[in-house]
Amino acid sequence: MNFICPSCSSTIGKHIFSSAERLHGREKNTHNIVRCSSCELVSLSPLSKKEDYKIHYPANYISHRPALNVATPLSLRKETCVHRVRSFVWSSWVMEQWGWPSRVLGHSLSVFRWFRARPIGFFGKERTLLDIGCGAGVFLRQQAQLGWSVFGLEPSYDMVESCRKKGLDVRQGFSISQGWTEKKFDVISLNQVFEHVDNPREVLMDVYESLQLGGVLVMNLPNWRSGAAQIFRSYWYNLDTPRHNLLVTPGTLRAMVVESGFQIKGMYTLSSMKGWTGSIEYWLRDFLGIHVSEGAISGSKFLNLLLKPMVKVLDLLYLGDNLHVIAKKK
Ligand SMILES: [Zn+2]
Repeated sequence: MNFICPSCSSTIGKHIFSSAERLHGREKNTHNIVRCSSCELVSLSPLSKKEDYKIHYPANYISHRPALNVATPLSLRKETCVHRVRSFVWSSWVMEQWGWPSRVLGHSLSVFRWFRARPIGFFGKERTLLDIGCGAGVFLRQQAQLGWSVFGLEPSYDMVESCRKKGLDVRQGFSISQGWTEKKFDVISLNQVFEHVDNPREVLMDVYESLQLGGVLVMNLPNWRSGAAQIFRSYWYNLDTPRHNLLVTPGTLRAMVVESGFQIKGMYTLSSMKGWTGSIEYWLRDFLGIHVSEGAISGSKFLNLLLKPMVKVLDLLYLGDNLHVIAKKK
C-alpha cells in the first residue's frame, strides 16, 4: 500500500480498517482507512481523485438534491425567531407550572441560542460570502435572503447551471483563485465539503488568500472523534467511503487551520440523529445481513426521540458527529 498523507506528505501510516461504499451499494470494493504516523490525520488511501468525480457523485447524491438543509451558524440565524418564540412559549408554560425560576431559565436559554446562532455578526459588518461546493445553492439563497452578497464555487456542471437559473453567481471548478482573481471575500464557507478534498493544505491556503484581512472561514464536517464514529467504525454513516477523503478530529483539523494562518474563534459539534440511525441501518444490513428498508431506522420517530438526549450530551462533550469551526484570517 502506497500511503501519502494528504496533509503532511508523510509516507508512514497505520492501516486502521477497510470499508465499502454503502450509500448507493454500487461497488463492493474495499477502501483503506489509514492514520498518518506523523500528523495523526486519518484519511482514505489511496485518495479519491477529481478524475473519479462522475463515478462517486451520481445525480442523486445528497448535496445535489435541492431540498438539503445545511445547519451552520449562518443558516441558523434564520431560525432564531422561531427558536425565540418556541422558547418563550415553553418558558411561559413552565412558569404556570413551577414558578418564575423556570421562566428565567427559559429566557436565558433563548438568549444563549440567539447569540450562538449569529457568531458571524461578532466579527464586523462584512457582507460578501463565498460558499465552496455550494451544490444546488440552497444555502446561498438562504444567506442572500438574510442580506449577504453571495457567490458560489461548485465542481458539478449540472449544479452550476441549476444555480445560475436561480440567478446565483456560481462558477465551476475547485479553486477560488481561478474563479475570482481579484475579489476578496468577507466570509468563506465549506458546508460538508472539506472532507471530500484531496489537497486540504492547498484549499486552506486558497481560502486564506481569498479572504479579506479579518475575514472569516466557516466550516462544518464529520467528526472522526465522535461517539458514533468510534463505535460503528467502518459502518459509521458519515464515513461515506470513498467520497470522504479526510476523517478529521478537532485536534487534526485545528492543527491544519492554525498552521494555515488562521485564528480559531470557535469550535463545537452540532449534530443530527442521522449519524446514529444511519450507522445502525448500515450495521444491521451489512454486518448482520438483516434486510432493512431505507429509512426504516432513521425515519423512526421513537428511535429519534430515544437517541436525542444522548446526541445532545455528546455535543456538549465535543463528541458529536458534525464538527463546526469558525476561524478568522489574522
Ligand atoms: Zn500526516
